[in-house]
Amino acid sequence: MTAPLARTIAEVRAAAADARAAGRSIGLVPTMGALHAGHGQLVTAAKALAPFVVVSVFVNPTQFGPAEDFAQYPRTLDADRALVSAAGGDLVFAPTAEEMYPPGTGAFVEVPKLDAGLCGPRRPGHFRGVCTVVLKLLNIVTPDVAVFGQKDAQQAIILKKMVADLNVPVRMHIEPTVREPDGLAMSSRNRYLNADERALAPRIHEALRMVQARAAAGEADAARLESALLAAVTAIPGARVDYANILEAEHLSPMGRLDRPALAAVAVFIGTTRLIDNVIVG
Ligand code: AMP
Repeated sequence: MTAPLARTIAEVRAAAADARAAGRSIGLVPTMGALHAGHGQLVTAAKALAPFVVVSVFVNPTQFGPAEDFAQYPRTLDADRALVSAAGGDLVFAPTAEEMYPPGTGAFVEVPKLDAGLCGPRRPGHFRGVCTVVLKLLNIVTPDVAVFGQKDAQQAIILKKMVADLNVPVRMHIEPTVREPDGLAMSSRNRYLNADERALAPRIHEALRMVQARAAAGEADAARLESALLAAVTAIPGARVDYANILEAEHLSPMGRLDRPALAAVAVFIGTTRLIDNVIVG
């Protein structure tokens, strides 16, 4: 089975209008494709929340920096359509870049403050690109519910703020991170890892689990936990740490003591592949 494909905004709008006319509410799962079981879980969750589920597959050029992997990002549309169908999705929307950004497109969306740390400073313009494309997708598909992953925790927080601040009439649903059996967070970028790198990659999650365990054992000093996290990811052979931070989980602000839930988040280059992961602590 393979999910039907819409290539144009007019096609997906027509499908959404048909669904609504038939009394079916609409779910949207925005992705960049190269789908894996983590995306599958988002689709299944969307299907439980809305009977007509659209999965967008669009490698969004505006969220990649000039030195990032836009050209090399895996594109696997046939396999993606099969996965969407197996997970219960109803339609894949895979527009071209020209369809999404016709010449002369100039408006963009920016959510201040929440991009001050973590991936924000390391990937200038990234969240502006994410917010812009997601708002466009929300306006095109007009879903009742949109589903995102906790794997990209900062993205989820920023998108929820965008939707709240701009009164976008959609419910935002965040699904937990889906992991490989050894703990590695599933990611389309994991396929860049060679065998040695793949063997080391689960140590990112082990470092995050260590922080959770220390906090559970009574350590409430955020700076000490952050140092331990940084030391653990720095100790991964061949790894280059982009960041390892512990921030207040809702607003991503710095915290002294862990008297509220915290987000422990890391970005690590294993070889040339940049992997991100996070856990909630407390
Ligand atoms: P992307 O992989 O960038 O195409 O992400 C599309 C959506 O899937 C985003 O909402 C991600 O947070 C989510 N996602 C990606 N990987 C995972 C995972 N391992 N578990 C849960 N959600 C994920």
